Amino acid sequence: MGDTIFGKILRKEIPAEILYEDEHSIVFQDIHPQAPTHLLIIPRKPIANLAEAQDDDRFLLGHLLWVAKQIADQLGLQDYRVVTNNGAGAGQTVFHLHLHLLGGRPLQWPPG
Ligand code: 5GP
Repeated sequence: MGDTIFGKILRKEIPAEILYEDEHSIVFQDIHPQAPTHLLIIPRKPIANLAEAQDDDRFLLGHLLWVAKQIADQLGLQDYRVVTNNGAGAGQTVFHLHLHLLGGRPLQWPPG
């Protein structure tokens, strides 16, 4: 997979408001927040999207969801959404796997 803007954030080549880091993942503020809380949870491993994840990524995928829960708990969020856009037709614009964590306002369903 080619480099992306998130690769540059991971390597600290461009700034981001980073809230959390561990050996497998980092969490930072979305630059165009769609809710009062809008964070991106990304793996350090460059996987383009969920469809490109392999069998041996299954623990990493679980870890990302676990991180989302930890951050939501720390922020005191009770109602929130965790979503990943897989493919351009689903709204994916950055091809480095990421979970969006959205909260702090009522969230409608279904999304557009
Ligand atoms: P996607 O559309 O791929 O699901 O989500 C990509 C997200 O990355 C968007 O919500 C967009 O606002 C965010 N984003 C794009 N470029 C940057 C950037 O340079 N810095 C940060 N912090 N977020 C970005």
